[in-house]
Amino acid sequence: MADKEVFDFLIVGAGCAGASGAMYATRLNLKAVMVAELPGGLITTTHLVENWPGIKSITGPDLASSLVDHALSFGVPLKNERVTEIVNANLNPPEGSQSGFIVKTAGNEYLAKTVLIATGTKHRKLGAPGEKEFENKGVSYCALCDGAFYKGKVVCVVGGGDSAAKEALVLSEHASKVYIIVRRDVLRAEPVNADRVKANGKIEVLFNTQIEEILGSDKVEKIHLKGGNEMAMDGVFMAIGHDALSALAGPLGVDLNDKKEIKINRRAETNVPGVYAAGDVTDTEFKQAITGSAEAVTAAFFAFDYIGKNKVVF
Ligand SMILES: Cc1cc2nc3c(=O)[nH]c(=O)nc-3n(C[C@H](O)[C@H](O)[C@H](O)COP(=O)(O)OP(=O)(O)OC[C@H]3O[C@@H](n4cnc5c(N)ncnc54)[C@H](O)[C@@H]3O)c2cc1C
Repeated sequence: MADKEVFDFLIVGAGCAGASGAMYATRLNLKAVMVAELPGGLITTTHLVENWPGIKSITGPDLASSLVDHALSFGVPLKNERVTEIVNANLNPPEGSQSGFIVKTAGNEYLAKTVLIATGTKHRKLGAPGEKEFENKGVSYCALCDGAFYKGKVVCVVGGGDSAAKEALVLSEHASKVYIIVRRDVLRAEPVNADRVKANGKIEVLFNTQIEEILGSDKVEKIHLKGGNEMAMDGVFMAIGHDALSALAGPLGVDLNDKKEIKINRRAETNVPGVYAAGDVTDTEFKQAITGSAEAVTAAFFAFDYIGKNKVVF
């Protein structure tokens, strides 16, 4: 282990949070690295972002690549790998010192004095019969990725939040009719997106409605609603939220909340010294690109502070 390269700040993930943290780390002269399965992350699946400060309108993929490029241009290496485990490098650090970390992937092990977990989320499943069977045969989780396959077709978006509204607006550019299926009696979208939905002649919101089953033969043909009604449908797009990808944190002793999100403080620190978290994987309630980026930048600063104050051993 003695000769192995040691990173100051290893970032798991290269979405908005990870890439922002990486960029800032180099400004603080930290030796940083991003290890990410899918660089760019979740924002690449949305069409337009109109709330990134300083840019009135940019596509999600363009915002993601500009953030990753910014970090790369400052010299942060990007390892396109999936992290499988993070462990303490030294289980009995001498008094007054802290253990560093070993970050494992299928083919590599990296040593790091501090770690930022910015792994984001995975989309939540509805759990209705037919959902799994028809995935990629009419059931989708990304309007930007799959919307163009539904030119002139009838589709629905399941969900009652801002993501559902935005997904419906993207789909309305392709489909002939878009239903938003909302379980409750309100669409909790950003007012600007709620107004766009209202003004869009192709979109109809169905409140107090739930899908009970998705039916078809080799692809989706109809949905069965709670209460007995059926609707002919060519595509069903899920926008019912996301679950934190926090599996790497638990074994390290990092505290999670009851939603399995990583608990952080205002310094983006977890309860484990040297382990930080940022973005959608954390217990922050308002999850946006800018909030995740800000947490990661904060983490970079306090990792810099931590490395200056602590002897880290391997
Ligand atoms: C439809 C939709 C529209 C949205 N619109 C907006 C908007 O207009 N404005 C806005 O600000 N936000 C918007 N958001 C929210 C925004 O996309 C997220 O808040 C943001 O992308 C989260 O960034 P992140 O870096 O925390 O996580 P992610 O973007 O999810 O990135 C996670 C990173 O971690 C990597 N990773 C995960 N597990 C591992 C592992 N084990 N090993 C290695 N790498 C791993 C992933 O590959 C990825 O690189 C929208 C979201 C959706 C779904």
